[in-house]
Amino acid sequence: MGAIIPDKPETSQSRADRDFVELTTPLLDSLIDTQDPADPLARQFRFDPREADEVPGFHADPVGDLAATAVPGVLHKYHGRALLVLTGACAVHCRYCFRRHFPYDEQRLDEPALQRAIAYLRDDAEITEVILSGGDPLVLSSRRLAAVIEALAAIPTLRRLRIHSRIPSVSPERVDARLCRALADFPHPVVLVAHVNHARELTGESRAAFDRLRSAGVTLLNQAVLLAGVNDSVDALADLSERLFDQGVLPYYLHQLDPVAGAAHFAVDRQEGERLVVAVRDRLPGYLVPRYVIEVAGESSKTPLGPANG
Ligand code: SF4
Repeated sequence: MGAIIPDKPETSQSRADRDFVELTTPLLDSLIDTQDPADPLARQFRFDPREADEVPGFHADPVGDLAATAVPGVLHKYHGRALLVLTGACAVHCRYCFRRHFPYDEQRLDEPALQRAIAYLRDDAEITEVILSGGDPLVLSSRRLAAVIEALAAIPTLRRLRIHSRIPSVSPERVDARLCRALADFPHPVVLVAHVNHARELTGESRAAFDRLRSAGVTLLNQAVLLAGVNDSVDALADLSERLFDQGVLPYYLHQLDPVAGAAHFAVDRQEGERLVVAVRDRLPGYLVPRYVIEVAGESSKTPLGPANG
């Protein structure tokens, strides 16, 4: 038999598709109700055949990440802040992820590339906030994270460090003493923006992880994505806000779904989203109502949606 010759070269996108297999954690698996075909947790993490559908308007780079790449590993979209993409790995694979096709291979930060990325952040005096993102930065070892945080601490113009992570809810044991020490030692305020979409993702374990982070002086916020069949009801959104606050986390953003290829079945109509947020506002105090926003590629900030902004 002759060699099998691929009919077209493998691109970064096809590699990313292949790598975006189902991935969960033991804690998350224990929370999924396998008896319920409409379980809102299963829906976020279990493969759905509709991911293969090609839907007009849904594509590989929905928020203009590639155009915003300043140097490998640094996305610089907005004034005063920049993302440091430390890893493409995550503890879980959220099926609606807006970076599910991101060419992480091309942005991989080996030591020299990391030094170049940190030099970029240091050389732009207007950058006052660095956002550790990914992938999920907290999948890295606490030793490596501590080294990165220490390098960032030496940048004289930085005033804040922000971390975007799903770890406190899906793999809370990762929030260990060494990580908390590194965060506590950072000489400026640290903000952790968690990513929780449904109240059932919050457990005693997540509460303990948030407690450890708060004890390290970290400000805790949450960003959720409005997802059909997961949290597109007033009850689900209100429960999420209440339970987040019970665990010391302030609801910050509710994102309109980014139109990434493979996630069209999660889309909720914008008018419906606005109606939901207004109804949540009628039910909860203002500080528990997240800002409903959309990210538009090329815009200088997130765009508030409907009467819920502010
Ligand atoms: S944890 Fe974040 S980056 Fe990772 S798959 Fe989920 S949404 Fe995407």
